[in-house]
Amino acid sequence: MAINEEKIDVDSIVEGLLSDLPTNTETEIELPSGGIAKIKPITFEEERQMVALSNKGEDPSTLLIEKCVTGLDLNKILLIDKIYLLFKLRELSFGSVYKFHMSCPSCKEQQTISIDINEMPVAPLEGGSEKVEIDLPMCKKKVLLRRASVSDEKVISDTSKMLDNLWRFILKFDEYDDPMIIQKVLSKLPAGDVNTMISEIMCEGFGISTEVMARCSACGHDSKMELPLDKNFFSVS
Ligand SMILES: [Zn+2]
Repeated sequence: MAINEEKIDVDSIVEGLLSDLPTNTETEIELPSGGIAKIKPITFEEERQMVALSNKGEDPSTLLIEKCVTGLDLNKILLIDKIYLLFKLRELSFGSVYKFHMSCPSCKEQQTISIDINEMPVAPLEGGSEKVEIDLPMCKKKVLLRRASVSDEKVISDTSKMLDNLWRFILKFDEYDDPMIIQKVLSKLPAGDVNTMISEIMCEGFGISTEVMARCSACGHDSKMELPLDKNFFSVS
């Protein structure tokens, strides 16, 4: 009994100490696909769990989304929305400046690059629904595609897996929805049509642009690079 009372006291004292934290409340954001999500900043405990996952070589981003995002069906979040959420969570938790290290591709000098997340361009996906119908330019047929979401991440983690699993994203090829027909036709399609579909499934060109130009301070070489979402991304840098 006495222990219980003491515990309640500790909790209310801690709550009182943190009551003025403005960041303890949820913030509403609009996603590139048009949906609305509520996000809250990462706590110290969550950051610790994410660093532990990173150290084991696992991807901590799903845990982060689970802990800090509400108002969405987590498995159905489009991948472009997920990337956007990760950047916004980082901004809300650690501020908008993201610093990371790279070595210059020309002179190999170690560089510290600093990016303001607020200044990264975001291209909204007009009418961003889960499904999209497009015309294939080479075989001149219509296909109904499903856009990649968080639940697909494992089956498309590299190009070869993406090609093996492409049929899963094709809901209809012309008038056919039979997976046997879809897989067979896929194996005979020109690469151009395959690339058109992959680009649409991955929503290429939409969402937050993670490509940045970095100038080497030692040799002046300009290089274009993808922002790394490594373990530093999920902690103060
Ligand atoms: Zn250089």
